[in-house]
Amino acid sequence: MLKPKPSIDTIQPYQGGKPIEEVQRELGITDIIKLASNENPLGPSPLAVQAIAESATQVHLYPDGNAYYLKTELAQHLEVSPEHLILGNGSNDVLQLIAEAYVAPDDEVIYAAGAFVVYSLVTKLCSATAVVVPMVNDTHNLSAMAAAITDKTKVIFVANPNNPTGTMVTADETAAFIEQVPENVLVVFDEAYYEYVARSDYPQTLPYVLEGRNFIITRTFSKIYGLAGLRIGYGIAPPTLVETLNRVRQPFNCSLVGQAAARAALKDTDHVTKSQKSNAVGKTFLYKAFDDMRLGYIRTEGNFIMLHVEPSGAEITDALLKQGVIVRPMAGYGYPNTVRVTIGTQQENERFITALKVVSYQLPVKRSLVADSTLVPATKAQLTTDN
Ligand SMILES: *Cc1c(COP(=O)(O)O)cnc(C)c1O
Repeated sequence: MLKPKPSIDTIQPYQGGKPIEEVQRELGITDIIKLASNENPLGPSPLAVQAIAESATQVHLYPDGNAYYLKTELAQHLEVSPEHLILGNGSNDVLQLIAEAYVAPDDEVIYAAGAFVVYSLVTKLCSATAVVVPMVNDTHNLSAMAAAITDKTKVIFVANPNNPTGTMVTADETAAFIEQVPENVLVVFDEAYYEYVARSDYPQTLPYVLEGRNFIITRTFSKIYGLAGLRIGYGIAPPTLVETLNRVRQPFNCSLVGQAAARAALKDTDHVTKSQKSNAVGKTFLYKAFDDMRLGYIRTEGNFIMLHVEPSGAEITDALLKQGVIVRPMAGYGYPNTVRVTIGTQQENERFITALKVVSYQLPVKRSLVADSTLVPATKAQLTTDN
């Protein structure tokens, strides 16, 4: 029998949000809303749609493998040089490039229990040892992560804000953490929701890159820019690291249409502002609705909220599905009693709350949960070497 390398057997296949068409097919219902994958409910920028249409006639050509225009414009936007940028087929691609380039078997990779699942995936892909550090208050515990560093540590992944918990680490915590990380360890800050964060104590991490530290920021066009379907993400890193990552990268990992759309989306600052405002309004609306229903939830810095439900996230997800609302159960992240809901348009948020109320009458939902309770993950409360 043909066997994959041993570490591959330990990988659980990624469970994404169900596509709308699949739910339509399986349940025979129409008028479905998807609040399951943290997509921008306002859709893509109209300028991006136009750029996509215009680029359609060029798709017989390979894309520019070096993405000259996108990198130049992105560099200008970020006030870095193009040499600081590595593009990916989504930022997940960049996360994988980082692991492939730097992580050897038996190296240790540190990330938090309840952090974005891709860190675990790419660690296993490289047959490395995962050092999984528990969160405190559903938030990355940076001092515990620093304390977990050994001679074997190669990479530390931090999602800020984190998906699925929506929590963030502060500028002060980050500065103290960076002080403790030895020079030969690579720190990766995954900032997929960067543009949504409004808190003033959110760390601006670009200086860590520009100081030439072993520090990489990843960001994406999938979330606020509304281009998840086109798979464009990027890393910001010191040029020497970018040069290494470029050796691992597939030469045409960013499509021609994706590059064109990302350039247009970047210029559409109105769309970004609208999306930020819509998210802030939706967040306030949902918090109020959850408070009224006495449901516990975690305050979020992203465009999604993790909500405590009974009897289980899986059952509530199924029941909501029958109401035509797709959300995500979070048991795979060690949170069996939660669902994660993406903040939608006002209309979608109202539909979700209506459906949640219907479901809460159908199921024996505990209706007296303390709002803003700390959701304790089911994972062990000690340092583990795998999750
Ligand atoms: C969505 C998300 C990503 C990126 O996804 P891509 O579509 O691959 O850019 C990365 N990190 C986190 C924490 C996310 O939630």
